[in-house]
Amino acid sequence: MGLHRYFLDQTLLAGRVALSSDEAHHALRVRREAIGNRCVVFDGQGNESQATIVNVTKRDCELEIESVTFLPRDLPGHLTLGVSLPKGDRLHSMIEKAVELGVHALVPIVSDRSVKILNDNSMDKLRRFVVEACKQCERNRLMLITPPISFRDWLASVSPIDDSAPSAFRIIAHPDLPNYRKTMQHFVKKCFFENPLRGFAAVGPEGGFTDDEVLEAIAKGWQLIDLGSRILRVETAVASIATIASLVLDDHQVFPVPSGNQCERG
Ligand code: SAH
Repeated sequence: MGLHRYFLDQTLLAGRVALSSDEAHHALRVRREAIGNRCVVFDGQGNESQATIVNVTKRDCELEIESVTFLPRDLPGHLTLGVSLPKGDRLHSMIEKAVELGVHALVPIVSDRSVKILNDNSMDKLRRFVVEACKQCERNRLMLITPPISFRDWLASVSPIDDSAPSAFRIIAHPDLPNYRKTMQHFVKKCFFENPLRGFAAVGPEGGFTDDEVLEAIAKGWQLIDLGSRILRVETAVASIATIASLVLDDHQVFPVPSGNQCERG
């Protein structure tokens, strides 16, 4: 089994540091760490380091950090998801999957049929879910969760003002309006050839987006995406989009697109 991972909410630098009280509690009470044990620490900004536990008291745990490596492990292109959040366990599971699949940022959107309204406490809880998921999946850069915003304001803030805006894909998942719908395969091919490094995707509430909301997005240049012939739960739609988009975004890292035509992809 790999070394246990702990989150340090400050830029990692070689030397001695103390874990926060939550992380020290986890290390000492749950993991039963002792002086001399080795572990990994990450700072949520993309850095990780191996460390040795050098001092413990009843509540505190001090570590000696070694050389620091920048290894973010999120998707190399930025995928931002605007999601009308589900409730309870399904919300927890959705955050976990989005973190595991490398999503850059989650924007809680409030659309006409949204039911879940976030307060400051629930924002803190969501950020704790992100840290827990990063500890488990070895991601070193935290997924950003922005304050909630109305769907229409979000659309306005991320839609291009004119055609010279930098390339980015913008998709809205909606099982209705068949005349406008494109399949994910179409979207993946288009994105690959247009070479985008950023993407925005919108997922609606259990009641779905209203047709008015979707038509407004289409008018602003968003593409309507069909995720198959079954109706997915919000968290499943999020995981499918993140998985499919990672085929496009990750590809840039693994197979850089050649500038000339001298090189063929296998
Ligand atoms: N009751 C709604 C479905 C809501 S599902 C209806 O029948 O229209 C919750 C969200 O997941 C939707 O708003 C949409 O964004 C996404 N979604 C679920 N299944 C989908 C599918 N097959 N294609 C595209 N988007 C889907």
